[in-house]
Amino acid sequence: MSNTFTRRAALLGATAMPIAAEAQSRPRRIVISSANQNRGGVHCCARAMELLKSGADTLDAVIAGVNLVELDPTDHSVGYGGLPNEDGVVELDASCMHGPSRRGGAVGALRNIKTPSRVAKAVMEQTSHMFLAGEGALRFAKAVGFPEEDLLTEEARMAWVAWKKSLKDPSGHNNWTPGLDAPPEKRGAADQKKAQVLRELREMFPHADEEALARAWNYAEHPTHGTINCIALNEKGEMSAVTTTSGMAWKIPGRVGDSPIIGGGLWLDQDVGGAGSTGLGEENLRVCGAHTCIENMRHGMTPKEAALDTLRRVVRNFNADMEKLAQVDLHFYVLRKDGEYCGASLWDRPVPGAPMARLAVAADPGESREEDSVWLFERK
Ligand code: ASP
Repeated sequence: MSNTFTRRAALLGATAMPIAAEAQSRPRRIVISSANQNRGGVHCCARAMELLKSGADTLDAVIAGVNLVELDPTDHSVGYGGLPNEDGVVELDASCMHGPSRRGGAVGALRNIKTPSRVAKAVMEQTSHMFLAGEGALRFAKAVGFPEEDLLTEEARMAWVAWKKSLKDPSGHNNWTPGLDAPPEKRGAADQKKAQVLRELREMFPHADEEALARAWNYAEHPTHGTINCIALNEKGEMSAVTTTSGMAWKIPGRVGDSPIIGGGLWLDQDVGGAGSTGLGEENLRVCGAHTCIENMRHGMTPKEAALDTLRRVVRNFNADMEKLAQVDLHFYVLRKDGEYCGASLWDRPVPGAPMARLAVAADPGESREEDSVWLFERK
């Protein structure tokens, strides 16, 4: 399908779109999440389902699921091991909503705590507030017993150093590379930037192998997007949801994305359903995405229609300027109160050549697995 055709089709109606999530049965218990690296979504949904089957509360189930990803040092977009801000400090955002009690909690720009989703739940349960940010969020977390730990892994630090060294001003200068007084062999021409950065990284990280160095450079050039959103429904019709992330790599310290914004990166009303997002938080916030998905369903849309309509509002915000939209990676995950669900993405894949946009699903009975999302546009 050509890009132009897909674009027109998407704007005119949804007739040319693939339908991945049609004809679903109605399971009693179901958990959905974003797919994530290392099959993180599949493991998350499996864990949450295991807990649902044992009779656990839906919020405890989804939080236990995303904890696996928060604690995985090799997922560089969530929790421990996340790529840091521009100062090299990991700052985490998370939110949660508990359907039966209609309560929620959130933390933003939280440092030094590996499981921000659990801190969001503590905000919900142990305070009269809904959202704590920055220094106050850390002090609260410590006060209620969370251990303070360094979240910057060697791999994430190496990627951050590579990024710092790859930047340059209009005259090609970078403070993080050797100065004019350095011996000639230490100074590289601007067009040899990559080789020079890799040489310096080899000196700074003598234990890193070539593969790790190449990965660090790749993160510097193409910082990962990622977050995990997870939503559960149990056999009593109770629902809960959580979203957790390390946010945008190399962000300005203090930047908070959509993930901890209740209504933006997460919304749940168990009379209707739950929704969450991953991708470029700023563009999601301009359409209040998760809330919009749920209100669309409240007014009769299916999960797929609700999510695609929300994505079309993003398209409208750019007046369908495809060059700008090509820079936006955005995904929604929607679970309706009867178990119908959908993963929907602006593009078929986050960047050209990347794997297709997917979601993870664990339905009872059945194994936790990945499925393709539906999408509005196809990358060339
Ligand atoms: N939505 C997250 C944020 O904007 C990042 C992501 O999912 O890639 O912070």
